Amino acid sequence: MGVPLSQMWTVASYVLKQRLSRNQRYPLVLMLEPLFRCNLACAGCGKIQYPPHILKRDLSLEDCMKAVDECGAPMVSIPGGEPLLHPQIREIVEALVARKKYIYLCTNAILLKEKLDAGWFKPSKYLSFSVHMDGTQENHDFAVCREGTFDKAIVGIRKAVEMGFRVTTNTTLFEGADPNACRTFFDEMMEVGVEGMMVSPGYAYDKAPDQNGFLQRKTTHDLFEMILSNRKKGWRFNQSPIFLEFLMGKRDFECTPWGNPTFNIFGWQKPCYLLQEGYVDSFQELIDDVDWDNYGHASGNPKCANCMVHCGYEPTAVDYTFSGFGGIWANIKAMIFNSYANPRAEARLEEEKTKPHGPMEHLVQLGFGVDVKPDGSSVVVRETDNAA
Ligand code: SF4
Ligand code: SF4
Repeated sequence: MGVPLSQMWTVASYVLKQRLSRNQRYPLVLMLEPLFRCNLACAGCGKIQYPPHILKRDLSLEDCMKAVDECGAPMVSIPGGEPLLHPQIREIVEALVARKKYIYLCTNAILLKEKLDAGWFKPSKYLSFSVHMDGTQENHDFAVCREGTFDKAIVGIRKAVEMGFRVTTNTTLFEGADPNACRTFFDEMMEVGVEGMMVSPGYAYDKAPDQNGFLQRKTTHDLFEMILSNRKKGWRFNQSPIFLEFLMGKRDFECTPWGNPTFNIFGWQKPCYLLQEGYVDSFQELIDDVDWDNYGHASGNPKCANCMVHCGYEPTAVDYTFSGFGGIWANIKAMIFNSYANPRAEARLEEEKTKPHGPMEHLVQLGFGVDVKPDGSSVVVRETDNAA
């Protein structure tokens, strides 16, 4: 099982409480971005292109805890930038553990071994390192634009596992991803001893003139059907099993954009982790001010048309789980009958072996930048947009 029972229980009781109190819009995971700077410069990153005065800024421990208490979500994901570069990351983690929040500390793991050797963190059921891994060595090093990064991350992961830490991986897939290489990567991560893996399609920014690098809904279903059908017994995913069925095209969900609210140095980001349409000062303002009907696949908003990203749709899967007997049964079935035997997907995997994939095919989201507007909001654009 990819998620510990204590965490499942905490989330289940929290969601049930929200449903019993008829709270329709509740947060599940707070996306706490304490900084934007990083020790990598991935070509497709939407954070590190902020101007230097923004990259130098950190959220204080006090601001982080204020946001955590205001939001009340039982899980806190700490993306960035690279959180291990934050001067108070130890205190932030300690304070979250003291609040019994389940933490996903997202890291590229370049500094992980060094920080663990220095005794920065203590193993806890509340703390999981969520390591950014974009596939096998060749694919990962290409995606993050630096050779040797995969190997460094593996050293960090092995050290953390050996010390008794919870370790998960998070992988984003783009158009042209090699499904066979993804399956090999899953085997490798299980061998290294990670607790569970998270996968998600990348988000297709509508401003990008070249949409070829992004997965459309149909291609997302096709890709994930190949990757996640005929599942190997040992694979563990740190995700809702019915969200994985959604990626495979086996069920449909609508987005829950308030499920993973984002807080960073600008405030609470409207409306979701992916779209940056301004900021408000409090979580309650976020819930009250955003016209939520304008978002999600069914809204007809072109920005949401092809989005199937986990931060929007996994909260829906979790909420559905506790919506009644149907939701619980769907999860039980997905956990028991988890091989998803599918001869058609197997045949397509064989076909894919004859096609070019990976770095040779220029597969990652190269050339993106971020435009920061005077009000602090920003949009991700192709660098060619700026050049024009
Ligand atoms: S590791 Fe993450 S935050 Fe750092 S540059 Fe790459 S995508 Fe951006
Ligand atoms: S579908 Fe949801 S998560 Fe995706 S961009 Fe729209 S609001 Fe954000």
